[in-house]
Amino acid sequence: MSMSLRDPSLLRTQCFVNGQWVDGPSGKRFAVLNPANGETLAEVADVGAEETRVAIEAADRAMQSWQARPAKERADLLRKWYELITANQEDLALIMTLEQGKVLAESRGEIAYAASFIEWFAEEARRVYGDIVPLPQTDRRGVVIKQPVGVVAAITPWNFPAAMITRKAGPALAVGCGIVIKPAKETPLSALALARLAEQAGIPAGLINVVCGTSSRAIGGEMTANPIVRKLTFTGSTPVGKELVKQCADTVKKVSMELGGNAPVIVFDDADLDAAAVGAAASKYRNSGQTCICANRILVQDSVYDAFVEKFTGVVTGFRIGSGVEAGVTHGPLVNAGAARDVDAMVRQALENGARAVVGGEIDALGECFYQPTILTDVNDGMRVFREEIFGPVAPIFKFSTEEEAIAMANDTEFGLASYIYTRDIGRVWRVAEGIEYGMVGVNEVAITSDIIPFGGVKESGMGREGSKYGVDDYLETKYICMGGLDS
Ligand code: NAP
Repeated sequence: MSMSLRDPSLLRTQCFVNGQWVDGPSGKRFAVLNPANGETLAEVADVGAEETRVAIEAADRAMQSWQARPAKERADLLRKWYELITANQEDLALIMTLEQGKVLAESRGEIAYAASFIEWFAEEARRVYGDIVPLPQTDRRGVVIKQPVGVVAAITPWNFPAAMITRKAGPALAVGCGIVIKPAKETPLSALALARLAEQAGIPAGLINVVCGTSSRAIGGEMTANPIVRKLTFTGSTPVGKELVKQCADTVKKVSMELGGNAPVIVFDDADLDAAAVGAAASKYRNSGQTCICANRILVQDSVYDAFVEKFTGVVTGFRIGSGVEAGVTHGPLVNAGAARDVDAMVRQALENGARAVVGGEIDALGECFYQPTILTDVNDGMRVFREEIFGPVAPIFKFSTEEEAIAMANDTEFGLASYIYTRDIGRVWRVAEGIEYGMVGVNEVAITSDIIPFGGVKESGMGREGSKYGVDDYLETKYICMGGLDS
């Protein structure tokens, strides 16, 4: 691989099952590519249902003694993992940029973000309390205890190859569960490097397993059918999430779903337009438009529309696309050529229906994975760029007249993950924040995520919350114990 790591042992090409680095019985491997130049970075073991079953059984065995340990001991080990992730930030960031494409500065940021979930849940591990229920009978006491849900299966996407893993593994391990993780086939190296650091931290064998493969149906099929798995946590697209919820029904597993978004940025006429333009562009083009909370539809009040477009264009024309490891590059390639073609098809559909590309609008000459940062005006709600998650560096800017119309446009989607409002009117802040159907609302701010906030969506953007004090709940069962006979 064309990368020089300070700790070369972080580059793993085998899966991690029951504390062992393993290939599948078939010996099959799959290539991990660098989207900036198409080079093969590594050939990773391609495993399927059988290894997934072995990993699930290993997690089940390992969690029996893990859950019995004092929370403080679990917390101490998680803390070591956190420290190792932080100490290896540069290597982990380089691996991420090479396999995913995002620029190094964003990869470093993601590693810090990923580590923060382990730190946070190491702390939360010690704060899992129960309750005493005051009963009417004097000879009884009611007690509520919290217990780990059981073996957790996690399926994660390529757009945040590290953080989407740690915000599931952190709470699972903190409360006493074992976990089996299936990373996206585009970005297995980041997942395996994290597992290597967990091994170095001394997290017992079998508690964390990483199974990589090209047959996500086989791995996911085992995860959703195996009765040992008590919880499936998924981050990815809405159609795949729906399929997995159906598959989990047969064994009635708990599910957490972090799915797609269609975030509005609503800019009112009283907003600080400079801040709105900078914020909307940061949200739209982060990770080259490939985040679930990226601005997808920019809605601007008609009286300030032209002024906003001018300021927004000024920000975007300052971007430079290229390889994520190159100095001065602000935006990397999309994850693969198919992603760039999908984005292009959406832009073509808008242009054919009357939209205007103020900036960009094409796959760039740099290569098949590079899409030009694009701004579309003269767009309407019949276009795919209004209805669908774009997942690329394309900003359609729509017009609205009234507050009611803005709320209606924002809600005119099956999604409900992140949303953003720019206004200085405090009454409007509350009316709009309460009136729009989203799990998260940024007011005059687009940097809304961190380990300490409840991240998640409503409607078809999913169920459950990750991070924050709420993030442990999905990994716990509530048990009621009625203690009687106390008078005798
Ligand atoms: P995806 O196609 O749904 O894939 C996500 C994961 O699911 C990958 O590991 C994939 O494996 C696996 N998968 C695909 N089909 C499967 C099946 N039939 N059974 C089991 N597993 C299956 O999504 P993506 O393109 O990687 O990620 C982008 C999507 O994730 C966007 O919609 C984005 O909004 C969403 N996302 C949401 C959040 C959130 O917190 N709400 C955060 C990040 C991303 P393969 O790689 O093998 O296909």
